[in-house]
Amino acid sequence: MLQLPHQPLQVAALPPQRLPAREDQDGPWHTEAVCRRDEAGLFFAPSKEPTAARLSREEAAKRVCARCPVMVECREHALLQPEPYGVWGGLTAAERRVVLARRRRREVELRKAAAAERIAAAG
Ligand code: SF4
Repeated sequence: MLQLPHQPLQVAALPPQRLPAREDQDGPWHTEAVCRRDEAGLFFAPSKEPTAARLSREEAAKRVCARCPVMVECREHALLQPEPYGVWGGLTAAERRVVLARRRRREVELRKAAAAERIAAAG
C-alpha cells in the first residue's frame, strides 16, 4: 500500500479505497515528498504539546514544506480531503480552516453574482 507523506501509523493503515482520489488522477505526488520519513516528528502534534513547542515545531515543519517540490499538490490534497490534523503543504490545520472558509465565502459570492446575472438577463 502506498503511504502518504508523514502519515501517522493509524492513518497509514487505512484501506486503499480511502486513499485520496488525487493519487489515481494525478499520480503519486507523495513519492516526491520531502517529509516521507518524518523522523523528527515535525508534522503532527504529540499529545499535550505546550503552545510554544507546537509553534516551534510547526514553523520547522513549514520550513521543510517550503523546499518540497510537491507543496502545491500536498496543500490541495489536505484542503480537499480535508485533513483535520498536522501540517500539510506548509499550512497548519487552523490555517487550512481559514483557507477553506475563504473559499466557501468566495463560492457563495460567485453563486450570488451568477444568480443576479441570470435574473437581470431574464429581465
Ligand atoms: S509540502 Fe510539506 S507536508 Fe506536504 S509533502 Fe511536502 S514536506 Fe510533506
